[in-house]
Amino acid sequence: MRTFNKSKKLDNVCYDIRGPILEQAQKMEDEGHRILKLNIGNPAPFGFEAPDDILKDVIHHLPKSQGYSESKGIYPARVAVMQYYQQQQIKNVSVNDIYIGNGVSELIVMAMQALLDDGDEVLLPSPDYPLWTASVSLSSGHPVHYQCDENSGWEPDIDDIRSKITVNTKALVLINPNNPTGAVYSKALLLQIIELAREHGLMVFSDEIYDKILYDGAQHQCIAALADDIFFITLGGLSKNYRIAGFRAGWLVVSGQKALGSNYIDGLNMLSSMRMCANVPSQHAIQTALGGYQSINDLIADGGRLKQQRDLATTLLNEIDGLECVAPKGAMYCFVKVDAQKFNITSDEQMIMDLLRSEKVLLVHGKAFNLTDGCYFRLVFLPHIDVLRPAIERIANFFKHYRQA
Ligand code: PLP
Repeated sequence: MRTFNKSKKLDNVCYDIRGPILEQAQKMEDEGHRILKLNIGNPAPFGFEAPDDILKDVIHHLPKSQGYSESKGIYPARVAVMQYYQQQQIKNVSVNDIYIGNGVSELIVMAMQALLDDGDEVLLPSPDYPLWTASVSLSSGHPVHYQCDENSGWEPDIDDIRSKITVNTKALVLINPNNPTGAVYSKALLLQIIELAREHGLMVFSDEIYDKILYDGAQHQCIAALADDIFFITLGGLSKNYRIAGFRAGWLVVSGQKALGSNYIDGLNMLSSMRMCANVPSQHAIQTALGGYQSINDLIADGGRLKQQRDLATTLLNEIDGLECVAPKGAMYCFVKVDAQKFNITSDEQMIMDLLRSEKVLLVHGKAFNLTDGCYFRLVFLPHIDVLRPAIERIANFFKHYRQA
């Protein structure tokens, strides 16, 4: 009998955030256990509501959103995105340089599919948001990971990047602010990256989906505003800053030395047309979101809900013997180092599975973020303090008794 296997293209593709540990959690829920899920950066289920104006705008436009839009997206949304980046001082950007997608996720896959041929190398951060690595592999490229240094606030290690550039390296990816580490990159570091890109003829992708979620006075710098002679792709969206991940609204912006990428842009245009267009009702949210009151600022200010949760999570995790966490300057995650020797840990995945089984708390293990060394986990600090505190107490309780066999 003929069987149907997944394609060979998927052999090297790994996306563990929604992998086997999540399946186990779902099984336990089916058996009646209540699991505290601190694994996915999805604000709405934790009571972070979208600004009302956005919802009203989408509802208002719903009856008129029944047809396909232009494949790059509706005009007002693209103008709003263009202006957003013009305000950040990207000079060479027009409405034609904006592509609206069903979330940044769709655009990441599209951006890699348009670029890569067999064996082309892309430099990616380790740890990374794993969709980037998965998309490079899916597009028959070769992901090459550069180290981010925990001892300098998880900033990319420039020497490591330099040492990994080969004749096959086409592009470098930045995630700033970073998922999973919460690092926010300094202008000085971004200028060094630009220098490398210039020297080696690299294209730069910058995923800036968390650019408004900043703590302790951290400032976000859009790298594409820092040079005109590099070919840049900047990505952003509404899922995090505006708490509407379910709407699936994101954008991709082409800027800088576009002449270098004119053929690549033809490829992007083709892929964009092939998927017809992004979800039209959600595109109507973009102009209102970017132009309206930025309620995210209330959440991240001193005394704001997200800031309080970030402070509490960082403090409580650092109080646990054997755990250490660099305070995140952005985004919504704590990335925590576990003393593997102390707990005799050989597999961080097994550690997270053991935690789930014994304490009913769901986290994501460090290796899921393409980290090869050390033992880490990522915790999402989106739950209210009255849920977050007991969840971290359960984690503390787990490590009090834990020793891996
Ligand atoms: N990029 C990063 C760094 C993310 O953390 C996420 C989601 O967690 C995405 C992209 C995908 O976002 P979207 O909901 O726009 O597809």
